[in-house]
Amino acid sequence: MSSRKTCHILRQKPFPRTLSLVIPLYNEEEVFPLLRSEVTKFMDEFPARVEVVLVNDGSRDRTVELAALWAGSDSRIVVLQLARNFGHQLAATAGLDNASGDAVVLMDADLQDPLSVIHRMVDCYCQGYHVVYGQRERRQGESVFKTATAWLFYRGMRRFVSRDLPVDTGDFRLLSRESLHALNEMRETHRFLRGMASWIGFAECAVRYERAPRAAGETKYPLSKMFKLAWTAATSFSTIPLRLSIYLAIVTGIFGLEEAVRALITRFLGTTVAGWTSLMIVTALVGSAILFCLGILGQYVGMIFEQSKSRPLYLISERIGGQNAAVIPAGHGIERPGTGARAASA
Ligand code: UDP
Ligand code: MG
Repeated sequence: MSSRKTCHILRQKPFPRTLSLVIPLYNEEEVFPLLRSEVTKFMDEFPARVEVVLVNDGSRDRTVELAALWAGSDSRIVVLQLARNFGHQLAATAGLDNASGDAVVLMDADLQDPLSVIHRMVDCYCQGYHVVYGQRERRQGESVFKTATAWLFYRGMRRFVSRDLPVDTGDFRLLSRESLHALNEMRETHRFLRGMASWIGFAECAVRYERAPRAAGETKYPLSKMFKLAWTAATSFSTIPLRLSIYLAIVTGIFGLEEAVRALITRFLGTTVAGWTSLMIVTALVGSAILFCLGILGQYVGMIFEQSKSRPLYLISERIGGQNAAVIPAGHGIERPGTGARAASA
């Protein structure tokens, strides 16, 4: 952990009575059978009760069918069917809101984050840490491009957004009930969960692990979604992009000044007619700088607009399985945590 961080007194915690696994799913039919067998093995070996919250994020394949089948044969499985695709960060939020364990682990469906790491995460939890994140040691099977962009992303985020953001971590992490409660209090529309989990400031520690390649299927995070997440991270955590417009204005201002001096010299020396070229350059530069700044401003205004609508972050159209399935009606995902929509803790 960085020495810049707040020091916390660690209070040992008893082994969690229930551990929740939250797994968002988007078109994961290919990896599903493998996920099911690995998670079942983990649940049978784990020395406490395990609850699995599968969030089907509007998949267009057989994912929900497979998930419902599993929930039908195992009462430890709960399936939250989102009304449509809300994106990974909101699907994860839906799962976290509905998890009832003392400790909750958020993980991907593709088994890139090995289940065996969870044991080490629980050890850290018992030592008193509230947020235990998986930190990737090496990225097997990922393209040079993806590795390079991820490297740049985390360093950039630390430099420009938050110094506390741990590098080389995804959303694979364990959260204690207390830290999850704090996280669930933050109902912002544009979510960057790993930044939010670090922002709450609870005692956190890293568990280093080697990230496996995707077990089956293909990534559901294409480049466009990665850029979107990076932009959400940058804009939801800082106003630096707004400051960028000022820097840009300074640069174009200096250039404009230089052009003005040049025009004056030319005018007094009387060697040429009015400089059409320089005029065009300055106009184009200033014009694009203004549009750039307006664009950044527009992004923030758009985010304020979306937040001000106060729409629910996600909508659950159906809830399948789980121990209390019969008493929990569908559609309660729009409620905030703690208002009765969650399954009771075991
Ligand atoms: N996912 C989701 N909704 C989306 C995109 C992805 O719920 O719109 C899920 C996906 O099923 C997986 C997790 O988010 O469980 C991470 O996606 P993926 O493993 O494809 O991302 P990568 O590891 O390639 O960055
Ligand atoms: Mg993955």
